[in-house]
Amino acid sequence: MELFDTHTHLNDPALFEERDSIMARAREEGVRFLLVASYDLQSARRALVLSEEYPECHPAIGLHPENLEESSPGDWEDIWDLASRSCVLAIGETGLDYHWVKDPGFRERQRESFVRHIEFADSLGLPLTIHSRDAAEDTLKILKEHTPNHGAVMHCYGYSAEMVHAFASLGMYFGFGGVLTFKNARVAKEALLACPRDRMIFETDAPYLSPEPFRGKRNEPSYVKWVYRKAGELLSLPTEEVAAIAKENAERIFHVKHI
Ligand SMILES: [Zn+2]
Repeated sequence: MELFDTHTHLNDPALFEERDSIMARAREEGVRFLLVASYDLQSARRALVLSEEYPECHPAIGLHPENLEESSPGDWEDIWDLASRSCVLAIGETGLDYHWVKDPGFRERQRESFVRHIEFADSLGLPLTIHSRDAAEDTLKILKEHTPNHGAVMHCYGYSAEMVHAFASLGMYFGFGGVLTFKNARVAKEALLACPRDRMIFETDAPYLSPEPFRGKRNEPSYVKWVYRKAGELLSLPTEEVAAIAKENAERIFHVKHI
């Protein structure tokens, strides 16, 4: 069984320092593909280092909406420069996060940045990995007005089952993670059941959102197997079949066959 972790932060300093042992455990569990999502310039550089060190690691390059405030115009140029390298599989993570950000001016900056990321992804022929929290309507509006030419993934999908249809109609894929394993995660479970089979992929978002039985502890890519197991349970499918479906979907959205 080949497992794909389609959104992970092995470039987070805490994980990056222990990358050899973390990658060894991931390989033991059958993790064959990691999309390493960056969130600022330094994490983008580390994502590229990882792709040189481990053939399973593939960079996504972008500025996370929560990291916009501390990034300078120079960072943008460097980010675009790094994103143009041929090893890069996706742009992101980008998107909107209104959970902590209430200031209208800063929310506007997030929207501008999101559109810039989409345009850049289009110009490079790449898909995007999208972060969206408490901003479903605006995310949908931007995606309607600027529908990515090469697709995108709603990573750590946390909106309703009804919204799945709205995003799916724009060609979006859906990344499900550790939240699926939480007892009280009714919304995420319903969303998975509503998700078209050819649009679902799975992720850890490590070091965040550890699945049960590690909830509350630091997450790492090897734990993605618990997400696949739970998804199989919820979909009434053998874990192997879920892994095969998700692999095919991830290969399609991230153009893996071309690398
Ligand atoms: Zn992330």
